[in-house]
Amino acid sequence: MRAAMAAAEVGDEQRFEDPQVTELCTRVAALLGMEAAVFLPSGTMCNEIAFRLHIRPGGDEAILHRTAHPIIAEAGGPAAFAGAMMHPLDTPAGMFTGDDVRGALRFPDRYSPRSRLVSVEQTTNMAGGHVWPLAQVRGVVEVAREHGLRLHMDGARLMNAVVASGVPAAEFTAGFDTAWLDFTKGLGAPLGACLAGSAELIDEAWRYKQMLGGALRQAGIVAAGALYALEHHVDRLAVDHEHAFALAEGLAAIDGVALDPGDVETNIVIFEVDDPDGLCAAIERDGVRMGVVGPRRVRAVTHLDVDRTGVDRAIEAVARAMRT
Ligand SMILES: *Cc1c(COP(=O)(O)O)cnc(C)c1O
Repeated sequence: MRAAMAAAEVGDEQRFEDPQVTELCTRVAALLGMEAAVFLPSGTMCNEIAFRLHIRPGGDEAILHRTAHPIIAEAGGPAAFAGAMMHPLDTPAGMFTGDDVRGALRFPDRYSPRSRLVSVEQTTNMAGGHVWPLAQVRGVVEVAREHGLRLHMDGARLMNAVVASGVPAAEFTAGFDTAWLDFTKGLGAPLGACLAGSAELIDEAWRYKQMLGGALRQAGIVAAGALYALEHHVDRLAVDHEHAFALAEGLAAIDGVALDPGDVETNIVIFEVDDPDGLCAAIERDGVRMGVVGPRRVRAVTHLDVDRTGVDRAIEAVARAMRT
């Protein structure tokens, strides 16, 4: 990847003169079945710009899971930047159904916020890497369309869902107004994400890219890394999933760890222990890093820099820490 980045021919992406960025946007638009795409520095900026595109001033509401990234990890951006009223759903496993959306719709009167947007996170991050089944996504799309709502897919780990399910990306995103891919998660590029949608929406997204300082120059240096990732790092996500299953089985066998390995579908393993802070500090001293994500919850993620030996080391480190 570093060699591809070093060799990349570049230009000014703001003038659409960077061949790597142009190629990347064309590839992502085709992959997601959309007309156009725009390269952005981060996935967070994709979500922020998408919310800004869909939410109108005057009390528009977005329906999304309570653990969704725009709610928990974007510094309140949807409120600050888009003026979005958030309607968090507290449904199982980070996912919801068409009926859940129907139940969340506001009355169309002057007292209520206006239901405007539904946002789906594929795969679910803080709920543990679950893959929304295609039929469930379609059910959500159907209800949203029926009621004239916009649809956005946070596809930070969409390719994990594609590899785990065998469903092509464009089938998951069919009916959505906007969707994006992150190149920095399992795909392993240093930075960048692409937001896709209709030519009209992506044209408008450029305005906000400019506003936020996300309009770049010779971005081909990093777009070449993202292109390399799409070429070489998608199929191998299956290896990360195998590693996550192995990690989950190993951890589940340790006394004091509460975990159902059957819950693990992709590259995220979330488990419960009495003292997550103590555990994470202890294993970090052993060179293993996991994250505390709740008063009893720990999150581990497998990726291309973790091999099978690393998984075994992680299991041993947790076992050792739990014994002491
Ligand atoms: C990481 C992540 C983001 C944000 O992506 P960045 O590239 O880190 O800004 C958004 N949504 C989900 C589900 C994520 O996991």
